[in-house]
Formats: sequence, structure tokens, C-alpha cells
Amino acid sequence: MSVIVTCETDVAVVGAGAAGLAAGLRLAAAGAAFEVIEAADHAGGRAETDTATLGVPVDLGCHWLHDARANPFAEIARRLGFALGRGGRDRTRRLHLGTRFATPAEAGAAWREVDAAFAAVRAAGEAGRDVPAAAVLPQGGRFETLARHWLAFMSASDPEGISTRDYALYRDSPDNWAVLGGFGALVLANAAHVPVTLSCPVTRIDRSGPRLALETARGTLSCRAAVVAVPTAVITRGRLGFFPALPHDLQDAFAALPLGVVEKVVLGFDRDVFGLPERSFLDAFREGAPEEGAVSALIRPDGADGAVVHVAGGIAARLMEEGEAAMVQHALDAMAAVFGTALKSRVRAARASRWAKMDYVGGAYSGALPGKAHLRARLAEPLDGRIFFAGEALGGPAFSTAHGAHLSGLRAAEAALASIGAGR
Ligand SMILES: Cc1cc2nc3c(=O)[nH]c(=O)nc-3n(C[C@H](O)[C@H](O)[C@H](O)COP(=O)(O)OP(=O)(O)OC[C@H]3O[C@@H](n4cnc5c(N)ncnc54)[C@H](O)[C@@H]3O)c2cc1C
Repeated sequence: MSVIVTCETDVAVVGAGAAGLAAGLRLAAAGAAFEVIEAADHAGGRAETDTATLGVPVDLGCHWLHDARANPFAEIARRLGFALGRGGRDRTRRLHLGTRFATPAEAGAAWREVDAAFAAVRAAGEAGRDVPAAAVLPQGGRFETLARHWLAFMSASDPEGISTRDYALYRDSPDNWAVLGGFGALVLANAAHVPVTLSCPVTRIDRSGPRLALETARGTLSCRAAVVAVPTAVITRGRLGFFPALPHDLQDAFAALPLGVVEKVVLGFDRDVFGLPERSFLDAFREGAPEEGAVSALIRPDGADGAVVHVAGGIAARLMEEGEAAMVQHALDAMAAVFGTALKSRVRAARASRWAKMDYVGGAYSGALPGKAHLRARLAEPLDGRIFFAGEALGGPAFSTAHGAHLSGLRAAEAALASIGAGR
């Protein structure tokens, strides 16, 4: 751990998630003098692979290479020897209706209804309408709970809080490939040689002088340019301040892009309680009980006797408030409804993520509030020609994803280099 006290560099990078690490990679490649400063005691941010809970890699944050054929991490994974699993709605995908598994015909009808919901949201956004997704969703379908859950899973918000226009700007594809050794591990492996100063929150960026002054608990870092690669929530909650304060329109843009809630619960059992093949994917909800919502679960990752249960949107936000025990109980109840209550006596380990409660993260991923999708582009404008924002919220058509964050970090670093007359 390096000590800052008062030192100087050319470019400072705030945050060592996928975006900040990518910026570090670009700056290192350019031979620039730079420092990457991270609040947490580890790098990676929302890219975090846990191996302790199940004894195999499971991701608490990003796991799938979305839009995998165009995803830069696909090539990075190949280069670093990380195997990729090609998911999708294949034969290992199950749908449970609360008392029994859906028949193939029911599952087909369910996924058609989910697809129709997504298509309605996209069509409204592509037509230029920026309204809540809930306003354009087909109503009263048998699988509405599942459609709402998947919209919440994808956008980290219940449909009432999803902007149709923002959603339509996201580039989706059927190619979602899992990083089997852990996407978090991949992000770290890719940036293994980027030096990061850990456990060092930047509290304020003083932009009043000829050089920027980054104030941290361990001293001040003076620099010519900065890449600020922190989640939007960190800025709106004042965990990172600016002097003088950010322009009002930029503050409005950060506020328009809050992080929603998606959390994962990792459950380990002392034997196989599922009877399903390795890496089966399960969706489950109880028909007639929309208030209970739905869950999605990756069953037996890497063949382990366990599951990773995903909870999204308002239900996840409520459970977060109640605490980790409530989150674990919810996931266990959902698994017990499908596989029988006996599994509750076979639990040997449990861990819930708490992204929404972490001071320096504050949620899962960004989504524009209805009516505010146009403000996402504002984040990409440099501040004073020397502060460049990065992170998943600036991922362009890949916003909310790890590869969007990565690409934004590369872009911000490039701009920072240009601003100091360095680069290529
Ligand atoms: C449950 C969940 C599932 C997901 N699934 C996927 C998926 O399957 N595929 C996908 O592509 N994406 C997924 N994502 C999204 C993906 O993980 C994120 O988009 C991406 O990791 C964000 O990277 P980032 O660098 O923008 O931000 P972060 O990873 O949040 O990094 C920001 C870093 O800045 C640090 N920081 C904050 N404030 C300060 C400060 N003041 N001073 C110093 N450091 C600071 C933080 O500690 C953090 O390390 C998922 C996310 C979650 C939560």
C-alpha cells in the first residue's frame, strides 16, 4: 500500500472498477505518469468473484458477457485462458410456477410474453417516447410477474422507474456468455499489472487551481488531469465532492441516472438438493402472488452443491433495508418452494451481496429516470477540459455493463492523455 501524503502525477484515476482499471491499462501503455486511487481494500468494484462461499468461483456482480460477439472481454478471456459458457434459453433452463415446473408449452408462452414486454418498451423508446416502461407494458398477461422481474433484472428498477427511451438506447443481443472462472477474476487478471492505491477514498477534487488537487484521507494528490470512474450514486450522495461544485446541469445528469437494485444470494448446501445438471438456470414465481415477485437462479455453478439467486428491483430494495438475513431467507424460501423445504436443513453457507448498501458503490447499475434519458450523454462531456468521467453509466449502448465500463475507461484515459499533450 503506497502512502500519498502530498505527491504529484500527470493523470489520477479515481476508482478501480472495470472502468478505472481500463483507464490504468491505457495510461500504462502510453507510458504516462499516473495513479489509480481506490476507496475499497480491493480492486474490481462491481466485478467481484467469490470463491470462499461455494469453493468454486461465483460472481457477486457481473457474470455474463452481454452482447458477447462484440464484447471486448471475449477476446481478453480467450487471451487469458478463461473459459466461456454459452448460456441462453436452452434445455437446462427451467421455469417454476410456484407449485410445479411449467410444461414446455407453458414455458414457451411465458418467454413469448416476456419478449413482448421487452419489445413494447423498446418500441416506445425507439419511437422517441421517454415514459415509464410500466406505461407501455401489456397488462394482465399470465406471466406478467415474470416479465416485470426480467425488466427489473435487466434495468435494476421496477418498470415504473425505467425510461423507455434509455432502454431503447441499450444494445441487446441474444449472446450472453458466462465467464466460468468468474468475470470479476477476469477483470482483475486483465489489469494485474496496473498499480492501485487501495483503502484510499478520494473525498474531494479541488479544481480551483492550475492543477487538480485530489483530497484523500492520506494526503493530497496533485495532478494535471483526472479520470473519475466512480458510480453515479457516489457523486449524487456526496461521497466524492468537487470544489467548486459541479455545474448544475451536470449534477442534474448524475441525479437522472441513479443505480437501481439487483443483488445476489449465494447458497451452499452439504449435498445436491436440486437434482439438476450443472449450471442449470431457473426462473421461479408463484402464480397469483405478484407481490412476491420472481427470482432467477444459477443452479450448481461449476458443479458445486449450491445456487446463486438473483433478486431485482423494489423487492430487492426492501430486502436490502431489512438486512442480509432477510435476503438469505427470501432466497431460501424461493428455492424451498421449488425443491422442497428439506433443503433448508442442508444449508452450510450463505452470503448475500450488498451493492446498494456500499458507500462507494450504492447500487447495481445505472438506469435513466423516465423522461431523463437524454441526460446520459451529458456525463461524457469533459469538465474544465481536464476531468473525464468514466464508468458503466458512460458505456454508450453498453451502459450498465462491465464491458461498457471498460470501454468508457479507455476513452476517458485517451481524452486525459490528449488533454496533457501525451498519448500515442
Ligand atoms: C448483481 C450485479 C450483476 C451484474 N451482472 C452483470 C453481468 O452479468 N454482465 C455485465 O457486463 N455487467 C453486470 N453488472 C454490471 C457491472 O458489474 C458493472 O457495470 C461494472 O462492473 C461497473 O464498473 P465501473 O468501473 O463503472 O464501476 P465499479 O465497478 O463500481 O467501480 C467503481 C470503483 O470506484 C471506487 N470508488 C467509489 N468512490 C470512490 C472514491 N470517492 N474514491 C476512490 N474510489 C472510489 C469503488 O470502490 C469501486 O471500486 C452487474 C452488476 C451487479 C451489481
